[in-house]
Amino acid sequence: MKPETACVHAVRDATQTTGAVAVPIYQTATFAHPAVGKSTGYDYSRSGNPTREHAENLLRALEGGAGALAFSSGMSAVNALTELFSPGDEIIATDDLYGGTVRLFDNISVKNGLTVKYADTSDAAAVKSALSDKTRAVFVETPTNPMMKVTDLAAMRKMAPNALLIADNTFLTPYFCAPISLGADIVVHSGTKYLSGHNDTLCGFLVAADGETYERLRFIQKTTGAVLSPFDAFLVTRGIKTLAVRMEKAQENALKIAGRLKNHPKVTAVYYVGLPEHPAYELSKRQTSGFGSMISFSVDSEETAKSVLNKVELILFAESLGGVETLITYPVTQTHADIPLERRLSRGIDERLLRLSVGIEAAEDIIADLERALE
Ligand SMILES: *Cc1c(COP(=O)(O)O)cnc(C)c1O
Repeated sequence: MKPETACVHAVRDATQTTGAVAVPIYQTATFAHPAVGKSTGYDYSRSGNPTREHAENLLRALEGGAGALAFSSGMSAVNALTELFSPGDEIIATDDLYGGTVRLFDNISVKNGLTVKYADTSDAAAVKSALSDKTRAVFVETPTNPMMKVTDLAAMRKMAPNALLIADNTFLTPYFCAPISLGADIVVHSGTKYLSGHNDTLCGFLVAADGETYERLRFIQKTTGAVLSPFDAFLVTRGIKTLAVRMEKAQENALKIAGRLKNHPKVTAVYYVGLPEHPAYELSKRQTSGFGSMISFSVDSEETAKSVLNKVELILFAESLGGVETLITYPVTQTHADIPLERRLSRGIDERLLRLSVGIEAAEDIIADLERALE
């Protein structure tokens, strides 16, 4: 089955007999038992719910894993996986990780005795020097947010054979990138973004490559309880049905917009993986089947950056990404406000940087709005 077919048909609902084409919303907390010692397979919605399972089976199929779990948000998914580790363990993480993940690692995970070392995972030597006999995992986000650096997943797998390779696949989704086929043990998603796709649902996923890791994560999830609600599971399932067409259209727009921004006199740099001059263009072509639709760009001054944010009309000045609406974000005050200043600046995340999540509108309309805002 081709990926675009899989988004629509990979999982059929096995629980109902009416022929309903859409998965039913099992809005129930608990399930009655037919007799003592007998179960329908469902007991209580924290440990299992048919609507949630449908979304989980869909992610498992799309990512090619052994099992998937749906969480109430991307952050609760990341938090659950940190419970795999013990005090004294070390994780190596991509240095320009999503700000919320950094906030979790630096403020909560440290209290549990976990050490997170940040390294430029697009640079094999940097990862090599961060490795120690306590390294239990390498956590990568590719492309990174907001600097669009790309990690060679197969190379990471080889470099740290005894560590779990964890890949946040939020930006590319399984439609463009299959981390498990490149050696990842766990795939993380903020399903809030492209998977749901409409800026209307918070959601997270963990997909495990092997059954044992899946069972450990499942135990953590049912014990700590940050599960996706039945209604939100329905919404993300519905979103995934159109994932392929949304990803294609948004990417087509992003290529046009990046090309136009590159030649704008007030734009000093464009970070988009799909531009042939991007340092990881060739790696991306080998490793993924698409470049996605996230673009960061620098303008000539802080004043220009702020004026763009104030002047856009069609484009919405809002946090988040991956929806049908084009959004513009100011990383320094929004997604990356919690990153210590020095670390932030050393990554190039400064007052002149803007980030676009390109939507599925007509490219011409998005470009016209940007060009007017840049005037
Ligand atoms: C948004 C995001 C998260 C966090 O997900 P939420 O659904 O907002 O909790 C994690 N990683 C990446 C790359 C994200 O963009």
